[in-house]
Amino acid sequence: MTRMLIIGPPGSGKGTQAERIARFLEIPAISTGDIFRANVQDGTTLGIEAQKYLDRGDLVPDGVTIAMVRDRLMKDDAGQGFLLDGFPRTLGQVSALDAILEDAGQRLDFALQLTADAEELTRRLLARAREAGRSDDTEDVIAHRLELYRQQTEPVVENYHSRDALIKVDGIGAVDDVTGRIMAAIERRIGPEQVFLPSAPAMSL
Ligand code: AMP
Repeated sequence: MTRMLIIGPPGSGKGTQAERIARFLEIPAISTGDIFRANVQDGTTLGIEAQKYLDRGDLVPDGVTIAMVRDRLMKDDAGQGFLLDGFPRTLGQVSALDAILEDAGQRLDFALQLTADAEELTRRLLARAREAGRSDDTEDVIAHRLELYRQQTEPVVENYHSRDALIKVDGIGAVDDVTGRIMAAIERRIGPEQVFLPSAPAMSL
């Protein structure tokens, strides 16, 4: 029963890693970016509201984002743990998450930071733009998203660090290697009995 979040700049591989970690820990991965994109696709009121922000690489306003996450965390499957991917991204969202968890009598176990340098991030995001055709993966929008990360989200990382709740993992390298590093770091933190890794030698991911 792990309650955690993954935090890292756009292109750090957090979405991919979040899916894998969540499978190992048997908890739902909750990606705010995925929820927004699904709503845009379905043309819901939330999607219509969010689309302009997503297209520009801006952050959706805190009020909208926080209400969405609160609703999602109230669902049954999140009662036994969760992995938040892409939230919180602002200090306002940090306080909101603290309040949501406190109201539910829960607390976060840790925040996992995935690191990568700006050059590698831009290279990965442009490659993803070619493959996936995401509307926010153009060069200008990428630069803007990285800048917003520096301004708004680095203070979030610092906040979890100051509470001694941060685990930092190098996100550069092959996807499997990064997953291995992350799972080892989590295991050191929460103990092996909570991590359901397939037996060695080959981790089938
Ligand atoms: P992501 O898939 O995490 O890169 O998110 C894609 C886009 O969704 C971001 O560029 C924002 O426009 C929006 N978004 C996702 N998470 C948040 C959040 N926590 N706060 C505000 N906007 C968000």
